[in-house]
Parts: sequence; C-alpha cells; structure tokens
Amino acid sequence: MSFFTKIKGVRVPHEKDTASSAPKTLPPVGAVFLPMNMHIGAPSVPCVAAGDAVLVGQKIAEAGGFVSSPVHSPVSGTVTAVHDKLYATGEKVRVIEIASDGQDTPFPDIKPPFISNAEDFIAAVRDSGAVGLGGAGFPTAVKLSVKPEQKVDYIIINAAECEPYITSDTRTIIDSADDIFFGLSLLKKYIQPGELIIGIEANKKEAAEHLLRLSETPENKPLGVKITVLPSVYPQGGEKVLIYNTARRVVPEGKLPLDVGCIVLNVTTLAVIAKYVKTGIPLTHKVVTVAGTAVKSPANVLAPIGAKISDLLAFCETDPDASAKMLYGGPMMGIAVPSEEAPIRKNTNAVLAFAEKQAVLPEEQPCIRCGRCVAHCPLRLQTVEIQNAYLNKKPELIEQLRVNICMECGCCTYVCPAKRQLTQYMKLAKASLREYQDLQKAAAEKAKLLAEAANG
Ligand code: SF4
Ligand code: SF4
Repeated sequence: MSFFTKIKGVRVPHEKDTASSAPKTLPPVGAVFLPMNMHIGAPSVPCVAAGDAVLVGQKIAEAGGFVSSPVHSPVSGTVTAVHDKLYATGEKVRVIEIASDGQDTPFPDIKPPFISNAEDFIAAVRDSGAVGLGGAGFPTAVKLSVKPEQKVDYIIINAAECEPYITSDTRTIIDSADDIFFGLSLLKKYIQPGELIIGIEANKKEAAEHLLRLSETPENKPLGVKITVLPSVYPQGGEKVLIYNTARRVVPEGKLPLDVGCIVLNVTTLAVIAKYVKTGIPLTHKVVTVAGTAVKSPANVLAPIGAKISDLLAFCETDPDASAKMLYGGPMMGIAVPSEEAPIRKNTNAVLAFAEKQAVLPEEQPCIRCGRCVAHCPLRLQTVEIQNAYLNKKPELIEQLRVNICMECGCCTYVCPAKRQLTQYMKLAKASLREYQDLQKAAAEKAKLLAEAANG
C-alpha cells in the first residue's frame, strides 16, 4: 500500500546565520567521555582498560555485532575509567573516560586501508567508525551491505539539513567538497548504483552552487552526479521524504529504502568515509553547530567526540544562568539534554541552548478539530486519533492507525493552534504499542510451549 502522496510539511524559520563562517577548533579539553551506544544497534565493546595510554585515532572499542560500530580515541592521554554510568534517561551505559594530555599525539599505525573490492570497501567503512551523522546514528557499513539479489538504483546523499539553526552539513559541503566527490567516486566504484543524487535545500545557495560547479569539473563529470535543489520545506531531509522528492520512490510501511532500490547517506558521513579511505584517520571529531538564543557567539565548532557540552557552550560564550533549555539537535526533532556534562556523541550535529522565553512550553488547549496536524503531516497520520487511542489505552487501534511509521518530525506539534504536544503523544503511543506487542509475543510463546507440553 502506498501511504505517501504529496508531501506538505511546514515552513520553519531558518536561523542559519552560522553557515557563513568556517568552523572554529575547540581548544584542547581536559577529558572526554565516550558512551558505547553512540549508534543504533549493539553497544560497542571496550578494548582498553583504566590506566591504558591511548593516542588519537587508536581503536578503543570494537563493534559489538553486525549492527554496531567501533570507537576511536579523539585525544591522546590515559584511560581513567571504563564503567557503567546511569543517565538521566534511566539507561545504564558503558562509558570510556579518557584524561587528555593536551598533546593530541596521533596513533602511529594510522594508514589508508587497502581496498581492492566491494568487501574491502565495506570493511573500511566499518573500521572508520562511520554512522549516520545526520542524527540517526545507523552504522553506515550495514546500510551499504547490499545482498547480491538487491539492486541499488539510487544512492541519495542527504544534504537537505532542513532543521532550523543547524549548519554543520552545510560547512562540510563548503569546506570538504573534494572529500564528498571522492566519496561519491568510491560509491560508484564499489556499490555501483544506477544513479548518484545529492539532495540539497534551496536555502543553502552557496553550498548548492559549489556542488553544481564541482559536479561539472572534468574529473567529477564522469560520475554523473545529479544535484537536486529542493524547496526549503521541513522535513525535506526526512529519509522517506527525500527518497520521494529526489527519486519518486515510495518506501512502503515496514520496508527499508533498499527494498525500493535506494540507499540514503548523510553528506558528512560520506566525507568521513572518504577521509578515512584517503588517510586512515577514523571518526574522532565532529563539526557541531552551537547556537540558540542563550548563546552569545554562535558558531560551528570542530570538537572531539566525547567533549562535554559545557566545553562547547563556554567556548561560544554562553551564560549558564541564561540557558534554560539545551538540545542535542534542532528545535524540531532535538532531544532535551538534562546536563551540560553530557558528551558530544558521534551523531550530535548541533547543541542548542535557549533562554527562558523560548524554553517555556505553551499551555495545551482543547483540540478545535481544525485538521492542520493531519494536513501537514508528511505521512498523513491521524494524530488526534492516535493521541486518543493512546489516552484510552487502545493498542490495537494505535497499531491500525500506523503510528510506527511516524518519524517524529514535529510538524504536527508545530502547526497546532491549540499547542497540543502531538509529537510527544506519538512517541508515547509508539512506546505503549511496543509494550503491547512484546506482551502479545510472550503470551503466544507461552501458549506454544504449553501446547507442546500437553502433546507430550
Ligand atoms: S511527528 Fe509523526 S505524526 Fe507528527 S507530523 Fe511528523 S510524522 Fe506526522
Ligand atoms: S492541529 Fe491541533 S487543534 Fe487542529 S486538529 Fe490537530 S490537534 Fe486539533
């Protein structure tokens, strides 16, 4: 069934002033904190212990399974702890803590990987530590592991960066376009898609023109990269939205992009892979947009992964007393950060700090049945019905209303005149559905065991 027709989305303020200035490098930090769950999938498994000396780029944790990713040290120094830490979310996460010696001495064994075929390329992608850097955190090597029977018609590079404030991908395009085109040549050679497309929003004029110019140079032209400049409508960068708007393919409910011949990669992820293949330097640092109404000097900051948010906020002259709310990511999909001590993760593309005025949640009013939430939902979900099904504890109805395809983009909440926190209700409805499905599964397994026992 096709659930996708015309994408409406919303027009949000861009607030992308940081796009015009090159990233500033964060001064050396005293310590880094590296959680082992900086990606979707099995946690990474530490291969260092407290007291070990480590250098920049040295592997400190192995991938914990097929859907996982290794972790590399972003500083030189000494491992001070490998332990479980309780986060404000209630989850216990294994963390490697490293005290930096301030020298940033590179690991001497770093060298470009040997690649002669697609298998070597995928292994290199895995070894680079690359995960979806647009925020998703899905291990990139898994995304590129195409089975022989699967056909890749399109590889779509996501350069939409549609969330307000965030400009870190824009800077990658402006500052590292050569890496992007080298990455595209690797994809063409080893994954062999029918077509390579870069999807970018029209509000990134300088970056889009840069890409268009470079795609026409004698060395890049044979790649045949199509640069698709898209309207600046949020959530243009949503995976399914981008696939539809660039390749006109619909990803059906419960299916993956590859099921319709598409792979989507974030543009900065591609640059990280290219850099690793060129130099052997894995993912250890990130450009992070630091902005928001409480930040006095907003900027893109090149920071070691694992640096504390407070290091970046202080660097951008943020008054901690003026900061009432902090987010990992943009204002539409970002996650509230409970403490400035939280670290920059692999998939952190922005840290936003807002003053009290912007941090206060408006009071919810009764729904006036205007239908704007449904009209602006890119997936046309019946948000009010889902909310009511959740509040009335009707998991079967939640399932029928297909809450699982909700991408938590925030459009419904944004357009609601009654200020209803619809996206939060979608998240709660999803969680309650998961719980219900787990219980159903457990009950079915128990019934099967009892039936087997009764039959001797
Ligand atoms: S958060 Fe979910 S329900 Fe709301 S607009 Fe986005 S996809 Fe639709
Ligand atoms: S946008 Fe808000 S007020 Fe309008 S139907 Fe949806 S929940 Fe109700």
